[in-house]
Amino acid sequence: MQNYSICPHCGGETPSENLNCIYCGNTLPHTLGVFSGLRYGAKGYVWLAIAAALIAAFLACLLL
Ligand SMILES: [Zn+2]
Repeated sequence: MQNYSICPHCGGETPSENLNCIYCGNTLPHTLGVFSGLRYGAKGYVWLAIAAALIAAFLACLLL
């Protein structure tokens, strides 16, 4: 399964791992999901940690 980004310049669909649009060559903005964030830097891990903490807190509320 592959995610696609819509190019803001020409409206074409480019695979989101591409840094540039495959149609017009313009740089794509990085509106990436959690899993893409994991590939692109530490920011992804921060969000993953926050999500894990929220899930842990929710489970703790259920168990107590
Ligand atoms: Zn484009």
